[in-house]
Parts: sequence; structure tokens; C-alpha cells
Amino acid sequence: MNVLIASSEAVPFCKTGGLADVVGALPKELEKLKVNVSLILPLYRIIKREGLKKMDLSFTVPISDRTEEASIWKGKTGNNIPVYFIEKDKYYDRPELYQTAGGDYPDNAERFIFFSRAILEALKAINLKPDLIHCNDWQTAMVPIYLKTLYRVDPYFKKTSSLLTIHNLGYQGIFWHFDMHLTGLGWEYFTIEGIEFYGKINLLKGGMIFSDIINTVSRTYSKEIQTEKYGFGLDGVLRKRKADLYGIINGIDYDEWNPETDKSIPARYSLDNINGKALCKKTLQREMGLKERGSPLIGMITRLTSQKGLDILSESIEDLMQLDLQLLILGEGEERYHRTISDISERYPDKIGLKIGFDPILANKIYAGSDFFLMPSRYEPCGLGQLISLRYGTIPIVRKTGGLADTVKEFNPKSPHPLFTKGGQRGISGNGFLFEEYSAKALLKSVKKAVSLYQNKNMWKSLLHNAISSDFSWGASAKKYLSLYRKAIKMVGKRI
Ligand code: ADP
Repeated sequence: MNVLIASSEAVPFCKTGGLADVVGALPKELEKLKVNVSLILPLYRIIKREGLKKMDLSFTVPISDRTEEASIWKGKTGNNIPVYFIEKDKYYDRPELYQTAGGDYPDNAERFIFFSRAILEALKAINLKPDLIHCNDWQTAMVPIYLKTLYRVDPYFKKTSSLLTIHNLGYQGIFWHFDMHLTGLGWEYFTIEGIEFYGKINLLKGGMIFSDIINTVSRTYSKEIQTEKYGFGLDGVLRKRKADLYGIINGIDYDEWNPETDKSIPARYSLDNINGKALCKKTLQREMGLKERGSPLIGMITRLTSQKGLDILSESIEDLMQLDLQLLILGEGEERYHRTISDISERYPDKIGLKIGFDPILANKIYAGSDFFLMPSRYEPCGLGQLISLRYGTIPIVRKTGGLADTVKEFNPKSPHPLFTKGGQRGISGNGFLFEEYSAKALLKSVKKAVSLYQNKNMWKSLLHNAISSDFSWGASAKKYLSLYRKAIKMVGKRI
């Protein structure tokens, strides 16, 4: 089976969030299942050219009423997966991937409509004919649309099916209708059954309608997004396609995220030899200007956006600070949250450590050195933070939503090791703390419960054991992807 994964970011080349981790890790597991997989990305400025090779060809891509020339670079991931990069400096040679402090790049519609179309043209130029294109989020959502419209009669893609994974329904690629000309599609597709959405263009919506199969990143999220509360206006479209909608939980790369080998943390450790974790905590407290105390240390690594529960965190902060705990926050995002969080941390300098910015090395130190990891998300498609923290023996305290609900189970001191297996989900024992209501009160209650358990040495040991032995490596999820790929391939030419 030949599969092309199309994405706007992937580790180790470029990353702004979880999508990059997923796309970076999945191919190597698919390869183990004998899938011939390759990746395609835009060639952003941040991507190092060493190790890549410009291919000796150029090709043209229709956009609006003209065509543009583009080039292709080829490289490999650390695991020898071929990666193709679309070079078009006018669109991708910029300081950031999608936006600057001032907001989104104003031509994002053009940048990613171009990218989607360039993917199809590049495949022809390099003579690669995938059985399936696995698209991700709105940036590549035009690919399934093109396959069912402009390229429908193109014999080259006669046997190419598509799968669209939604990593976050909150980002849909909505643009004004004047951008319609960029797509090359006629106005007959600007309808409620096509890419029109309240008078605008919605690329993700179009992708959802035209892809053979839709997938999202956890079972619970796949159900939630069919409701008005979590559907961001697209719940109706998703309900219509519910027979083809799946939810495969993300894994994390267990080789990359491994406290036994991680060189960016001050001491290595494992379940059998956990002492190193205490040194990680001490060093982290010092580095972040906190007192080296034995109180529980709660870490947070997050985009600072309303999705991540920052309003209930700020609302509960005065009460949280009355507890014997320390809080560390690493994040960047919306300016208003930068300000709120900075104000809070200035008020409690020896209890709160803060770094505004994107810092992967510090992130590892926080995963390793914290006792708890807080994710009070309003919604969470999957969440990787809780999976990484489990791997590092850092206990998640999370809101029970989306992937958080599927991967974290409430620890019960009365019965520390029961195995939960529900709906085909792998078995895990109580490995953290959850709260259901999206409120400061519920958050506080859950944190209180967690920190009081921290004092009970025996229980803490059981909890650590459950956390570190929860297995969220990619193996099981990659098998589920393979079976979805097979389903989609069987559907080729049957829909729309
Ligand atoms: P999302 O994709 O919604 O941002 P996830 O939990 O799925 O959230 O994935 C976030 C990923 O990005 C994790 O690997 C996390 O460690 C990383 N991350 C988030 N914010 C930062 C930051 N400020 N610095 C370093 N890494 C970060």
C-alpha cells in the first residue's frame, strides 16, 4: 500500500503543536506494518536545507487564473521515510508557519490552497501514485476536494482515495468568498453542500464533505464534535457523515519521549530507578526561580488560548495559591493571556514560575521535573501533554473531555490497580485526576484531591506505577490507521 501523508507541519522539521508530533511519529509505525509511506510538507524558512536535495525538475501549479512554478526538495526523516518539500518562497520563506504576533498571514488562503494543489501536481511530476492521501486539518483539506472535483477525471488519480484527520475542529480555514477564485472551482461548489459556510469559504468543511473517510484523534472527541457544544458550527455536517467518522487516539513516540534516555533532562530515570526524578525536580525549581521545596510541583505546557482552560485557571489561582504547591507554566499564544498569566506570576513569585515562549528543551525538563501536569482544557481533541507526562511519571490532572477522557482514568486509592478497558480502548489503571465541569471550582477540587494524595507515600507509588505503565505508544493506533486506510481504498470512486 502506498500512502502519502500531507501536512503543514511535522517533527523534526517544523512544529507549532501536536499535529507535528503525530505526523512525525505515525509514518515509522506504518512502515513497520509494511505500508510504503512518504510525507509532503511546505518548505518553510525554518527547515534546514542540509540533508535535503533539490530535485532536478520544476512543475507548475494552477492558482486563481494563472499558473505558478514550484520546485520540490527531497529528504528523509531519521527513520528513512521519504519526505517531499514544496518550495515556493513567495509563500513559505517567512519567519513563521502561519502567523506573526500581529495575527495570521493575510494570504493564508492562497498559501494553503496552493499547497494542496501543488501536492497533486508534485505527485505527477515525481511519478508517485499513492493509493491514499492522508490529509491533516484545513491546510491540506483542499486535497480531497480536488480529488473529487477538478482531478476527478484525471486518470492519474483514478485509484487514489483520501482520508482527512481533524486534529482540532476549532481551526477550519475560513476565508472570505472573494478568495473562491484561488481554488479554481466553479461557484457551483460554493453551496451549503460544498465549501460555503455562512457566506464564506470553509476549507475544512469542504474536506469533510469530499474525503472518503474522516478521522479525528480520539473516540470521545469524535462523538463530541457531533454535538452543538463542541461542533464549531460543523456538527450537522459531521452527523451527516457519521458512518464514515472515526476517532483514533494519538500515540507518542516512545523512543523520543523517554526519561531513561532523554539527554535534555538533568538525570535519567525509570519506574525501577525513580531517584533521578527528584534531581530533575530540584534542578527545575532552581532554574525557574522557585524555592527548592518538597511541595508538589504542578507543570503546564500549553498554547495560551481559550481552548486550554486559562480562564478557569486564572479564576481559581487565588485559592490554588492557598495550597501547599508550586506551579510552573511554559506557554505562548494570545497576548491577553500573556498579560493575565504574567500578572498572576508576579503576585506569587516564589510559588509560580513562568516562561512565555516556545521552548522544547524546557518542556522536557518540566515533563520530567514536575509531580503533576495540569490540562484544564475547555475541549481537547486528543492532547499529547498528558501522554508525555504519563511517560515521565508526572501525574495528569485534566478536564474530562476528548482525548483526555480517553487516556486519563481517575485514581482510586481504595482500588489502586483496576484495569479499565472500554470501547476497544486499551486497558489502563487509574493514572491521574479528572474533573468534569468546566469551572474554577471543579478544577480546584481536583487539584486539592491530587495534592493530598501526594502526601501518601504508598498510594503515590501505586499511582506512579499506573502512570508510567500506561502504554500510549503508536503501535496500536497505527494498526487502526491501517485498517481505516484499507476501508478508504475500498471506497475509491464509490462516493460523490
Ligand atoms: P495542541 O496541539 O493543541 O497545542 P497537544 O497537547 O496536542 O496540544 O500538543 C502540544 C505539543 O506541543 C506537546 O508536544 C507540547 O509539549 C508542545 N508544546 C506546547 N506548548 C509548548 C511550548 N510553549 N514550548 C514547547 N513545547 C510546547
